[in-house]
Amino acid sequence: MTETIPDAAPDLDFDLKGLPKVSLHDHLDGGLRPATIIELAEAVGHTLPSTDPVALGEWFRESADSGSLVRYLETFDHTIAVMQTKEGLFRVAKEFVEDLADDGVVYGEVRWAPEQHLQQGLSLDDVVEAVQAGLEAGVDAVAETGRDIQVGQLITAMRHADRGQEIAELAVRHRNNGAVGFDIAGAEDGFLPSRFKDAFTYLAQHNFPATVHAGEAAGLESIQSALVDGRALRLGHGVRIAEDVTIEFEEDEDAADAEGFDDTVNDTIGMVTLGELASWVRDRGIALEICPSSNLQTGAIAGFGEGIESHPLDMLYQLGFNVTINTDNRLMSGVTLTDEFELLVETFDYDLDDLLELTLNAAEAAFLPLEEKEALVEYINEAYADLG
Ligand SMILES: [Zn+2]
Repeated sequence: MTETIPDAAPDLDFDLKGLPKVSLHDHLDGGLRPATIIELAEAVGHTLPSTDPVALGEWFRESADSGSLVRYLETFDHTIAVMQTKEGLFRVAKEFVEDLADDGVVYGEVRWAPEQHLQQGLSLDDVVEAVQAGLEAGVDAVAETGRDIQVGQLITAMRHADRGQEIAELAVRHRNNGAVGFDIAGAEDGFLPSRFKDAFTYLAQHNFPATVHAGEAAGLESIQSALVDGRALRLGHGVRIAEDVTIEFEEDEDAADAEGFDDTVNDTIGMVTLGELASWVRDRGIALEICPSSNLQTGAIAGFGEGIESHPLDMLYQLGFNVTINTDNRLMSGVTLTDEFELLVETFDYDLDDLLELTLNAAEAAFLPLEEKEALVEYINEAYADLG
């Protein structure tokens, strides 16, 4: 599927990597360095498909790209296997932050499911504390290089499991120790957010924010449940909200006549109709955490066409939806946020103003207090202004 992603560098007169970025949707167990996986696997006696960092990195990308869900899910068996000790969790979290900073990220929310890291006897609180210690060490390491980054944890429950309430309580318990939000992840189809209705009610009662994976592997029903049962303030992907948007093209005869030629491409008028759900998501500014390359790999956008150019993110963005750009799983997709921006510049001809708007959307949708969001927005605006 990657052959549809152009790899020629765009002709830009600015440094995409240096632009300040905000990352809202990036999984901790999907962003490890291959060399780290190899070292940690050796320490815990876990067997990998390869012990060569380059070959292992390729194995992850090929498996994610194979079109086989079984192979895709197998990749997480290996990353999760090396994240079962405090040492493993600490190191992965620390390097995660350093890698984000190297990509220009100044604010990042890191999501992961504590319940998947208890195989060696650690408790839920142990693993959250180990990851938090690693994230803080990463922030300190970045500061030593003269840069700044701020990160928060999105505590995630797995939808096929039944620990939603426990994980919601865990998240609230750690709200003053790095947890900034809650999410549910894993198999979306067949596991509606309504399964976790009580956990989401508990979170709402504690005024703790939730983003919900919805509109990726399932459609409008899942998005509706995320918003109603999950009280989602943001949608993880949410890309299939585009199924509730109808655009009818009609040839504009007058325009064709007036210009003296008949060009059905240039002289069409699109009649846009939003369903009630799409209207709610757009008009209320519910942020969509779009992950372009991942959406292509997992088939989330298969209903809209084949390549990245048929990704509905551009249509949603042009219609005023609150679109943010993210990576999802940097290891499996072999991408950085810089790569995703580059892809949008190449595919949709986005310029600096577009990238600024998408970045500000993410900053404003961050699970941060207002004062901190305002400071983040100001920092981003100033950095972009310096370019112009
Ligand atoms: Zn995700």
